Amino acid sequence: CDSTQPSGSGPAMTKQELLRYEKDDFPWSTELKQSLKDVFQLSKFRPLQLKAINLSMSGKDLFLVMPTGRGKSLCYQLPAVCSEGFTLVVTPLVSLIEDQLMYLKSIDVEAVSLNASSSKEHAKMVLAEITDTKVPFKLLYVTPEKIVKSKLLMSRLEKAYSAGRLSRIAVDEVHCCSQWGHDFKPDYKLLEILKRQFPKVPLLGLTATATSSVLKDCQKILCVPEPITLTASFNRTNLYYEVRFKDSNSDDSISDISALIKERYKDQSGIVYVFSQKDAETVSADLQKNGVKVSPYHANMNPEDKSQVHRKWATNKIQVVVATVAFGMGIDKADVRFVIHHTISKSIENYYQESGRAGRDDKPADCIVYFGFNDIFRISAMVAMEKVGQQKLLTMVDYCQNVDRCRRSVIAVHFEEAWDDGGCNKMCDVCRHGNDYITVDITQHAKDVVQIVELAGSLDEKLTPLKVTEAWMGKGPAKRRKMIQTTTLSRLEVEAIITSLLLQGYLGEDFSFTPYTTYFYLKLGGKAPLLKNQAHSITMKMRRTGLDANTEDQLAAGVKEVVVTSQSPPPVAPDNSSTPPPRHNKLIKM
Ligand code: ADP
Ligand code: MG
Ligand code: ZN
Repeated sequence: CDSTQPSGSGPAMTKQELLRYEKDDFPWSTELKQSLKDVFQLSKFRPLQLKAINLSMSGKDLFLVMPTGRGKSLCYQLPAVCSEGFTLVVTPLVSLIEDQLMYLKSIDVEAVSLNASSSKEHAKMVLAEITDTKVPFKLLYVTPEKIVKSKLLMSRLEKAYSAGRLSRIAVDEVHCCSQWGHDFKPDYKLLEILKRQFPKVPLLGLTATATSSVLKDCQKILCVPEPITLTASFNRTNLYYEVRFKDSNSDDSISDISALIKERYKDQSGIVYVFSQKDAETVSADLQKNGVKVSPYHANMNPEDKSQVHRKWATNKIQVVVATVAFGMGIDKADVRFVIHHTISKSIENYYQESGRAGRDDKPADCIVYFGFNDIFRISAMVAMEKVGQQKLLTMVDYCQNVDRCRRSVIAVHFEEAWDDGGCNKMCDVCRHGNDYITVDITQHAKDVVQIVELAGSLDEKLTPLKVTEAWMGKGPAKRRKMIQTTTLSRLEVEAIITSLLLQGYLGEDFSFTPYTTYFYLKLGGKAPLLKNQAHSITMKMRRTGLDANTEDQLAAGVKEVVVTSQSPPPVAPDNSSTPPPRHNKLIKM
């Protein structure tokens, strides 16, 4: 691999040339169509599948970015079936491999795998078959670790390669190569060996979520000189996106979720995602107390219990699974009508993927996330060791705190997709109830908060977000109260302002690690010194509903101006939306 090679320039293939690959006059086209029907029992291709398959069949290296559940696997399975020899598929998880093998077996496609849980005899047999002149399988699934660690496997693959029997390489979840991706896996970084040893074999990298910079990084790591990148739209038009606020004083999210499940989602299938294994148990127990049929699911349960919960849910014997993110891989239930996040995800990518398990059948479904101040820091501490963990978390916080941009547009911008305002069709809470916010000047508030953090620093103290909140609200130690400017804003408003200061870089995060816990503190952010400049001002947008008139006055107190951007009444939901979710009043929205 020539690492000095310029990367990211992409191939010199114009749109016009790419169009060619949507046709069905290739030498393999008849067979493709036949196998799609006879083997895979599918009637037609979904968007991008045919193009991806034709490109791959033409021997091109390809990166395919397509949301989860849209059918990436077919883009290497069908070519595998229609080619001589076999396709090598690199997949990160044994459970994913097992799902695929089970599926392929059910449609009579020969596939085998090598992974950490293969028995010695099985591995021996597979290794022998790789070099068979007539390879008995079409797909060989391996974990990246096998490629990296098994010299025997590599030497067998080399033999197959020289004999022209290694027809294609697919790298699933290809974003795992990049440390900038949301799910870096060290073994993936060593997969450069594939293109180095098998330069003539076309490589297909698949992912549901990767920005172009992550893809460029993957391209460099995998030593793929000029891949063609196909990107499917991220806009899931049937999903309704909504954010609800969790109040730190009285968290009534549980009763809220119970009511939703029992009323709006009566007899409908869904998932409630929670932060931790412990939360899975407690939230599940709380919902059960409220009369909802749910089961918890997390990585620490024994495998039989896990698959039992999965099976019961898949067959609608359990309405809802209360799960950690361990519940996800290989989940392919089409009629999930709602995905509720009891706690925010650790990034927009994660949120998109988790919430995207709703509405795979293309019928309307809801994605609701509960946004609580304290949750930000629980996750922050969890991702403290990840290279870009904080940055990614803040993208999620921004998605939730946002009151004026269409939720879809935030997602689209994040995935670097061009956004067209017509693309939402009032299928998010901002578009449906939008224009109901005020822009407030928070310069003085920022100075007060920064002073509190500075003061603590000068006393050699570190303040947790909770301590900062309490100090500002006048609940700190008496000696300090004399030295700082306290506020009479409500808890929720105080939290919103601190969150905004964090998002805008006036506050930053600081961690301290013990063997058992990671502690999170607030420190001054890179932009804090700007506040010393008299002319510097900061604003933030707050939703009007839920702010009492008093609050608006207080927010305005001592500030130069309050710009009220819009007071128009919330737009009416379009007629075609079956059940316009009512504006949520119980929890204060901002
Ligand atoms: P991904 O890897 O992109 O998350 P999968 O390859 O696992 O998605 O496919 C998800 C589901 O979509 C599978 O059940 C698959 O059978 C189905 N599927 C794939 N292609 C088509 C198609 N052309 N028509 C109908 N269903 C399809
Ligand atoms: Mg997949
Ligand atoms: Zn919208």
